[in-house]
Amino acid sequence: MLPVAVAANVVEIRARTRSTIMAVVKADGFGHGAVTVARAAVAAGAGWLGTTSVAEAAALRAARLAVPILTWLHPSGIDAEAAAAAGVDVAVGSVDELAALLAQATPTVRIHLHMDTGMSRGGCPRGQWDELIGLAQRGQRARRVRVAGVMGHLPLADRADPAANAPAVAAMRQARQAVRAAGLGSPPAHLAATSGTLTDPATHFDMVRVGAGLVGIDPSGTVRMHDASRLTAPIVHTTAVPAGTPVGYGGTYVTDRATHLSVLPVGYADGIPRECSPQAGVAIRGRRLPVAGRVSMDQIVIDTGAESFPAGTSATVFGPDGGATPTVHDWARWAGTIPHTIVTGIGPRVKRSIA
Ligand SMILES: *Cc1c(COP(=O)(O)O)cnc(C)c1O
Repeated sequence: MLPVAVAANVVEIRARTRSTIMAVVKADGFGHGAVTVARAAVAAGAGWLGTTSVAEAAALRAARLAVPILTWLHPSGIDAEAAAAAGVDVAVGSVDELAALLAQATPTVRIHLHMDTGMSRGGCPRGQWDELIGLAQRGQRARRVRVAGVMGHLPLADRADPAANAPAVAAMRQARQAVRAAGLGSPPAHLAATSGTLTDPATHFDMVRVGAGLVGIDPSGTVRMHDASRLTAPIVHTTAVPAGTPVGYGGTYVTDRATHLSVLPVGYADGIPRECSPQAGVAIRGRRLPVAGRVSMDQIVIDTGAESFPAGTSATVFGPDGGATPTVHDWARWAGTIPHTIVTGIGPRVKRSIA
């Protein structure tokens, strides 16, 4: 994990917006370590942190991250006590959710009204905004909640086309206006994630919530960000084999010449995608060498040709280096997926370190 890359990505983002930057470190900082990513992002200028659960937020507090934190998915309901104890803001996306929160006897909880701006995935449906705002108004008067933000989410920002975002931007303005009109002041409004932040200033409002971009992924594919991780594995075993040798389960790869095979101790249990194209490879001593045969649970085999690498030789599965080294984006292409699933899929037994 490379904090310098996270810092460089915050600089890229800052160059494109004046809004407050919320560093979204859900899913353990997209697999890179939530605390490490959060620290690097805050040091580089992020003013807020975002997670999906209060538990994740509490872990950041335990690591002495003191900036405001927002959480927005509450799988087992909002635990007002825990949120208040951790000093965490919670997004409230429905009338029922807010009613359940108000029913708890707790100190004042800071809430962000999460409005559905076109995603239909969480967020209060348009037809119930007034009811939600009305309930928030009563809750705030009774000092049970404090409306500390208004939130939306962009469904189409990856297209990098402002016209595609326009309906959500309009909805966000209306939501902000409705909150103001209800006498709830002008709490920060936030709509954009990485793609909107990088491609459409109209989506920035007061704050942008950037997750993927922190670790080097621009889902809109328009800005080259800095990859924030490198995955290496040592060769555990090397053999010389003749031409015509089938490799791995199903014998799907058959050597076409006398060659050497090296085993790396990473497999699909560690997040190496099992479904990957024949182009998949790793870098060993500056050369790109192919993955031979199927990815196993705990290991992959590399066809190293005429060279016989001794056990212990380090192979780079992916990294930011370029040249022979595959990137996370290469692995995503080989697996027919997005880079997010590669980085968040790296398993728990892969040892994380900070470089
Ligand atoms: C994940 C998430 C983000 C961050 O999105 P990226 O595209 O990774 O920057 C922002 N807001 C919400 C609600 C999210 O779930």
